[in-house]
Amino acid sequence: MVLATNLGFPRIGANRELKKAVEAYWKGKSSHEELAKTAQDLRARHWKLQKDAGLDHIPSNDFSMYDQVLDMICTLGLVPKRYNWDGGDIGIDTYFAMARGNDDAPAMEMTKWFDTNYHFMVPEMEDGTQPKLSSTKIFDEFEEAKALGITTRPVLIGPCTLPFLAKHKGENIDHMKLWNDIISVYEEILQKLEATGAEWVQIDEPMLALDLGDMAREGFKQCYERLSKAAPGIKILLTTYFGDLRENMETVFSLPVAGVHLDLSNRAPHQYKDAIAMVPEGMTLSLGLVDGRNIWKNNIHQSVEIAEFVESHIGKDNIMIAPSCSLLHTPVDLNNEDALDPEIKNWMAYATQKLGEIAIVAKGAREGRDAIASEIEASDAVQEERRTSKRIHNDDVKKRVSAITDDMKKRKSPFSERQKLQRAALSLPPFPTTSIGSFPQTQEIRKARSAFKKGEIDEAAYKTAMEKEIQSVVKYQEDIGMDVLVHGEPERNDMVEYFGEQLDGFTFSKNGWVQSYGSRCVKPPIIFGDVSRPKPMTVEWSKFAQAQTDKVMKGMLTGPITILQWSFVRDDQPRSDTSRQISLAIRDEVADLETAGIKIIQIDEAAIREGLPLRKGDWDAYLKNAVEDFRITSCCVEDTTQIHTHMCYSEFNDMISSIGDMDADVISIETSRSHMELLEAFVEYKYPNEIGPGVYDIHSPRVPDTDEMVALLETAAKVIDPGQLWVNPDCGLKTRGWAEVEPALKNMVEAARIMREKAASAAA
Ligand code: GLN
Ligand code: ZN
Repeated sequence: MVLATNLGFPRIGANRELKKAVEAYWKGKSSHEELAKTAQDLRARHWKLQKDAGLDHIPSNDFSMYDQVLDMICTLGLVPKRYNWDGGDIGIDTYFAMARGNDDAPAMEMTKWFDTNYHFMVPEMEDGTQPKLSSTKIFDEFEEAKALGITTRPVLIGPCTLPFLAKHKGENIDHMKLWNDIISVYEEILQKLEATGAEWVQIDEPMLALDLGDMAREGFKQCYERLSKAAPGIKILLTTYFGDLRENMETVFSLPVAGVHLDLSNRAPHQYKDAIAMVPEGMTLSLGLVDGRNIWKNNIHQSVEIAEFVESHIGKDNIMIAPSCSLLHTPVDLNNEDALDPEIKNWMAYATQKLGEIAIVAKGAREGRDAIASEIEASDAVQEERRTSKRIHNDDVKKRVSAITDDMKKRKSPFSERQKLQRAALSLPPFPTTSIGSFPQTQEIRKARSAFKKGEIDEAAYKTAMEKEIQSVVKYQEDIGMDVLVHGEPERNDMVEYFGEQLDGFTFSKNGWVQSYGSRCVKPPIIFGDVSRPKPMTVEWSKFAQAQTDKVMKGMLTGPITILQWSFVRDDQPRSDTSRQISLAIRDEVADLETAGIKIIQIDEAAIREGLPLRKGDWDAYLKNAVEDFRITSCCVEDTTQIHTHMCYSEFNDMISSIGDMDADVISIETSRSHMELLEAFVEYKYPNEIGPGVYDIHSPRVPDTDEMVALLETAAKVIDPGQLWVNPDCGLKTRGWAEVEPALKNMVEAARIMREKAASAAA
């Protein structure tokens, strides 16, 4: 029989109950018992929800107080030494110390979960790390569900993916032994689950969607041989997601597992065709047809067709219908949205609605299309509406995109010419100082913005409050002697949301929260239609700021890839089409800023790197497109207008030629923490344009002193022509307080002054 299944449900709760409970516990406002009770209630609610939706396989152990990888780290007893764990029960406080650090030990590192915006805790392997089963969470939650009458399918992060994600910190680690010991713990887990009555276990191995070598593939074989023998009574569903298996598929289907899950979302829509040719008889295929990373309704018709096609090859007994990946990456319940435009809302589905879709597709696959005729009809109607809706489709936008010419992607003159013209036009000193855009977002700023949003103050009052703030940061920057000023971005809540709110084609939810890390949730903008800019977005603020000073005021924009990357994106056209439309919208803003007399315009592309595809083979196409987007956005200006860009990271080695191709006049990057080592890529590539390697780590409250920044600049000046260098912090200052920013920037300006002096005396 075709089964309706799920891979994981968001745990934060429809009203972010888990966030609130965890934070109350951290603040000492509630007890561990209260926190445990909230967690248990959430689990029960979510299991019941899935049961009521008609799901046959419901996951457990997908719940987590903080992060499912951290849970797995604890289950395997991989607690780093610095937390002084005694080897017994890992209490909640040790658990949170690993996540957040405590007085004695810093937190474990956190990084992005594949190409999602979810952050996981990075496992650490040290000398002496000895895996052993150290948590009963997985068994407890299985029993907890069983007591509610639900036999769940426990979820584990796989024994290949988990060590693959780990950071190796020791010098004397016997990697083979360590890995073998890890597998032994998994064997023990499977045996215990078998004994408690689990029929299936879901083992997540998303690394199978990456480029792997033969060794890794061989490792999978050995590992799963062992697991299959350890607990022959339990069925393993090997789950892959976030992309297609490509050359790893053969290995996957040769493993001794009972089932394999495939991502069939638009990231890998066709891989079922290869799969049916390879899947051994009797093996279950779990079809990830409902997109777990988006908020759009499923195309039921198409899903059922695929399910039927697979059925016709492997029969009905061995099919599961599933989301493409865990629903963790989608908001909880669309019914919580009361302010969305009804037309757009009718196109959407959050996790709760996706459960219903899974059940419907499974029913259709099981009983035939007639059994779900009305659902197919409704789904077809939605698809048709989206194909034709005037809300989505804007002919002017489409025409403009198709009329993009090569000239629009090119500055008038090459950089060497522009540099001369800009030097004459801007008359900046050597080692010019600037900041990345935002200044501290004080209580007052936030209060004014939220009062304006709630209608408590009118637009004029809001504008006055922001202008006062702009005047004060302009004065501050003049006083300390910065060269290129910024207006401080007080009017922006978020660098993407601010633009999304003013662009056509975007909408915003009230409750579309998705877990980003721990208790932190984000509410991504939703791009539903063709994007265009009805009117200027930043020009008035920049003009006002420029009017306050004789110095050069830098205009601040967010780039197309970053806007795309941090939003829910429409699934009815390629991502690159959407970013192209955004490029044109931002291009208009660039042109208007220039017309308004703004001589330097910064286009932040904070997220280009994190948008890199998981497979190296897909990088070129992505980067080519990202470069073109940037050029379309920025190339409309005169040679004298200086284009800056900013990127919030420092690993450029593998994409430096694309950074070069973007041809920004100036790029600022994060480098202070790595002591300029990360300039290496720029040096090797002989990056010709100007560059501002951050000299001040804004992620830390520490105020760097002048000498330290001079030392960093001298390091940089050794490898990069000093004439190319700018002086700036690593990133925007909005998360810092004035008490730190004030002295830090003063020191930074002084560091630039010292560098100029040194250069002058060296020349004399
Ligand atoms: N201009 C933005 C700011 O300063 C850039 C933020 C970012 O790079 N994340 O806040
Ligand atoms: Zn940044």
